[in-house]
Amino acid sequence: TTPLLEVRDLHVEFHTRDGVARAVNGVDYSVNAGETLAVLGESGSGKSVTAQTIMGILDMPPGRITQGEILFHGQDMLTMSAEQRRKIRGRKIAMIFQDALSSLNPVLSVGYQLGEMFRVHQGMSRKQARAKSIELMDRVRIPAAKERIGDYPHQFSGGMRQRIMIAMALALEPELIIADEPTTALDVTVQAQVMDLLAELQREYNMGLILITHDLGVVADVADKIAVMYAGRIVETSPVHDIYARPAHPYTKGLLRSIPRLDQKGQELYAIKGLPPNLTRIPGGCAFHPRCPMAQDVCATDVPLLHPVGAERGSACHFWKETIGD
Ligand code: SF4
Ligand code: MG
Repeated sequence: TTPLLEVRDLHVEFHTRDGVARAVNGVDYSVNAGETLAVLGESGSGKSVTAQTIMGILDMPPGRITQGEILFHGQDMLTMSAEQRRKIRGRKIAMIFQDALSSLNPVLSVGYQLGEMFRVHQGMSRKQARAKSIELMDRVRIPAAKERIGDYPHQFSGGMRQRIMIAMALALEPELIIADEPTTALDVTVQAQVMDLLAELQREYNMGLILITHDLGVVADVADKIAVMYAGRIVETSPVHDIYARPAHPYTKGLLRSIPRLDQKGQELYAIKGLPPNLTRIPGGCAFHPRCPMAQDVCATDVPLLHPVGAERGSACHFWKETIGD
C-alpha cells in the first residue's frame, strides 16, 4: 500500500556566509494513516529542516532542495502544480510548533483565531464558527471553553496554549500532523499530558503523526517507529520497542544513556562528548566518528550505509552488530 507521506532521498542545502550548509543529506522516511513516526536528533540534525521542506516553509536563510521526492498519497509534492501543493499544505497537513506564543497572534482572541480557520476555509458564519471553536477547545480539554473563548493567548498557561495550537492544527481535520518539539517548552508533567492528548487525538482521527524531538524520553509511549537523525542523515530506524531494548547505533545508545531516570537521581547525567558537526564541514566517513566511543579507522574514511538489522530496522554503522550485541 502507498504510505500517507513518504520522503525519498531528500537533500537540502543552505547557502551561508560560511559556505554551503548541507542540512539534509539523503533522508528516507514514511508514515501511514494512524501511525506515529518519531524523528529524533540533536539540534542541527536536519529533523526540523526535513519537516519544513515538507511544509514549504524553508525560510531563513533560503534553503534549496537539490534532490529527492516528497510523496503525499504517492504524488510528488515537489513536482505537482503550486495550486495542488497549496491545497495539501493548507488542509491535509498541519504543523504544530514548539512556541505557541509566537505562533498565535497576541492581539486576537483565541476564539477569533480558531474561528477564522472555519470562516476562511469552510465558509462558516461567525456563529457557526464560534460554536465549532468551543467544541474544539472542549475537545483538547481546555476547561470552561465557553467562558474562555474571548481570552487572548497570554492569558493561558504554556500547556493550555499548546492545546490551543493542537486545536488549530485539528480544525480542518488534516490527514497528517507534523509536531516540531511540541512539548519542549513545558514542565515535565504538562509535557506528558500534552503528548498523551496528541496521541489520543491522532488515534481517534486516524491521522499520521510525525513527532520531531530531541528527547527520546517523551516518545517511548506514543511513537510506533523512530528515525534517528545525525548530520542530515538517518542513522537508525526501528520500531519503537526494539530501539529502547537494543539500540543498533552508538549515537542512539548515547541518546538513551542521556535520558534522566528516576532510579538514578543525584547521579550525573551521561552526555555524548563533543558537539554536532558544523554543517558546512561535515566530517568524512561516518559523520559521528569524532564523537563515537566505538570508532575505528574505517569510520573516518567510509560512509556507513543503512544496513538492514532484521526485517524492519536499519543502522548506519559499520559496527552495528557489535553495538547491538554488547
Ligand atoms: Fe561509530 Fe564507526 Fe559506527 Fe560511526 S560507523 S557510529 S564512528 S562505530
Ligand atoms: Mg528544531
